[in-house]
Amino acid sequence: MLSAQQELIRKELENGTGAAIGMRVDPTGTRTRLSIWFSDLDERHGPVAELRPVGLKGYQVTLGFGTFAGDVVRQIRAASDEDVRLAQALLGSIPSSIELDLGGQDVTSWRVETGQTKVIATARRLPQEPEAALTAMCKDAIVPMMAAMAELIGYDVIEAEDEAEGEFEGAILLSTVRRRERNPRNRLLCIRLHGEKCACCGFEPRQAYGAAGGIIEVHHLEALSLLSAPRPYNPATDLVPLCPNCHRAVHTRRPAPYSLEEIRRLLGLGDAREVNG
Ligand SMILES: [Zn+2]
Ligand SMILES: [Zn+2]
Repeated sequence: MLSAQQELIRKELENGTGAAIGMRVDPTGTRTRLSIWFSDLDERHGPVAELRPVGLKGYQVTLGFGTFAGDVVRQIRAASDEDVRLAQALLGSIPSSIELDLGGQDVTSWRVETGQTKVIATARRLPQEPEAALTAMCKDAIVPMMAAMAELIGYDVIEAEDEAEGEFEGAILLSTVRRRERNPRNRLLCIRLHGEKCACCGFEPRQAYGAAGGIIEVHHLEALSLLSAPRPYNPATDLVPLCPNCHRAVHTRRPAPYSLEEIRRLLGLGDAREVNG
C-alpha cells in the first residue's frame, strides 16, 4: 500500500473518530493487511481493528480488544445511553453489501459486554482494483467501527472557547446541542446517512470548493422540543447537514433556532423537496 494512501486512511479515521490513530501495514503477500488502534491506548490496551484479505477479492475486518484492555472495556460498559445509541447507529450505517457479524447481537441493541466482544465485517465482492477495494473497506467498515468505539470510550470533543453562553434560559440546552453538533462521530454519522448537501439551500461545498470543501456542518434539529418536552436523542434522525452560511443563519435566533423552513422562506426558496429532490 502506498504511503500516500495510508495517510489518507489515517486522516479519515482521525476525522471520523476524533482520536489519534496508530496503524501497522503488513506488506507481505499480494494484498495488504492492516492493524488499526487508538494511539493513546496502543494495541494492547484498547480496541484493535484488523483487516485481512478473504477469498479472491474480499476483505474482512475483525474488531476486538487487546490483551490488557480490561480498563477500557469497563469504561465502555459505563458509557451513557446516548453514546451507546450513537455507536449502534454508526455500526448500522455500514452498508448492507458488507456482512456484519455481531456475535448474535442485533445492531439496534448491540453492546460491548466483555473484552471478548468482537465485531466482524466481511465484504466478498469489492472493486477489482486492490487499492480501491482497500479504500472502500476502510471508509465503509473500519471508520464507522472505530468511530463507534471512540464514542463509547468517550474521546473528548474539544470545545472552542468562543462565544460565552451566558446565564440566560436555554444555556444548558445550547451547550448540549453545540456538543452534539461538534462531536466528530455525530458528524461522521450525519454525512454517512445524508451526504454533504446542505439540507436547507441545497449547496454542496465539496462540489463547489473541491479539496477545500470539507466544510459541511451538522445541525441538531430538535432543539425546540428539547426545551419543552425532552425525548431520547436519535442521532440518525435528529441530525442534518447544513452549509456554514445556513447553519449560522439558523442559530441567529436563540435559544430556539430558526427551522429549516423558516430559513428557506427567508432565502426565497420553496420547500425541501424542491431543494433536495
Ligand atoms: Zn445552505
Ligand atoms: Zn445547529
